[in-house]
Amino acid sequence: MDNVFPSTHPLVAHKVTRMRDVRTDPKKFRELIREVSALLAYEATQDLQIHKVQVQTPLALADGYDLMERIGLVPILRAGLGMVEGVWGLMPSAEVWHIGLYRDERTLKPVAYYNRLPIEPTVSVCLILDPMLATGGSAIATVDILKKWGVSRIKYIGLIAAPEGINALHTAHPDVPIYIAAVDQRLNEHGYIMPGLGDAGDRQFGTG
Ligand code: URA
Repeated sequence: MDNVFPSTHPLVAHKVTRMRDVRTDPKKFRELIREVSALLAYEATQDLQIHKVQVQTPLALADGYDLMERIGLVPILRAGLGMVEGVWGLMPSAEVWHIGLYRDERTLKPVAYYNRLPIEPTVSVCLILDPMLATGGSAIATVDILKKWGVSRIKYIGLIAAPEGINALHTAHPDVPIYIAAVDQRLNEHGYIMPGLGDAGDRQFGTG
């Protein structure tokens, strides 16, 4: 499918397997989510705009590049929080905009409970950080919010996707590229990805 980029990197495959393992404790899980998120962000940011600059080395002038774009990281609370640190480490000048959506367990639809975006967009590209692309409802709602806010370039970065989630997000927003570590088999009757890794929030925060 156009605009869907499952990672083929062996480090990503290895680390996601460790995250799936039920024996992985929250401390290790948080370490892994940070590392995998950074690797995926590296893949997702290959087309960022740069411009030429010169810097003085201890020996001579050198040609180099500066990033031109202002980047917004948009973690979807709460499971997206653990993805911020790794990505932010790569682009420390990025702004972080939190969006709070939870999934109504009965309807499986996203409900917004937190959003403090300023009136005008302050960034040119947003990276949505949300580990599990299950039904796609939260991702679609977040892209809707960001587009209404006026952001023209939006990318989704997640760890594990169900085919249902990919189809839903791609159908609603075909212009949003989806960067993902793994695509799993299906959703179960409770909206969890199978085999997945369980609840990504509970696995990070030791709840559940
Ligand atoms: N959210 C999770 O944390 N895990 C799933 O499998 C689906 C949604």
